Amino acid sequence: MSERRDGRVAEGTSLLRMRMGNCTEGSNPSLSATTSPEVDGSDTKAKYHGLYVREEVGNKGRGVFTSRDFAPGELVLVFGGALLERGAIGDVTHALQVGEDLFLTASNDLDDFVNHSCAPNCGVRLRGGRVELFALNAIPADEEITFDYAVTQSRSPDLMECACGQSSCRTLIGNFEALPSQLQDLYIAQGSYLPYVLSQRS
Ligand SMILES: [Zn+2]
Repeated sequence: MSERRDGRVAEGTSLLRMRMGNCTEGSNPSLSATTSPEVDGSDTKAKYHGLYVREEVGNKGRGVFTSRDFAPGELVLVFGGALLERGAIGDVTHALQVGEDLFLTASNDLDDFVNHSCAPNCGVRLRGGRVELFALNAIPADEEITFDYAVTQSRSPDLMECACGQSSCRTLIGNFEALPSQLQDLYIAQGSYLPYVLSQRS
């Protein structure tokens, strides 16, 4: 497991931990769920079919692996959790940004442990109110599933160190709008982004 260091979090912690950063300022957390017309973290049925968690994946702690083949575009899992506004996050340390000020908290299940990669085999999309992880390409059994955390994150003050080991590693993981424009265009073409991040681009 990686850990926070001076406001940064090493790559490899499962995905949701890295999202939060400095979201506690000025808040007196009341962990009340909020509502969103677009995102629903409660519909997670069948989200874990064909997946399992390995406890140690290199130096990254836990990771999620396939136990069967996935086809390009196939749904891999649905992120679960409660929706919280930024001011209600408090000291919650696991959350996936799904809106400018909206976060999906940890589900305390498998989907909390999907790692980042700068050369991911999965993307993230919003469908029917669900935040879905889907296969960008054919994924064989016993392969780790990853996505680029930047496709859900926008205008966050956090930068996260990355050690994914890919030749295309960006070293730091940040916001969608900070990605090289070619990579933004690729993710958009692949359908791997949350819609709100496009409106955040300058
Ligand atoms: Zn990387």
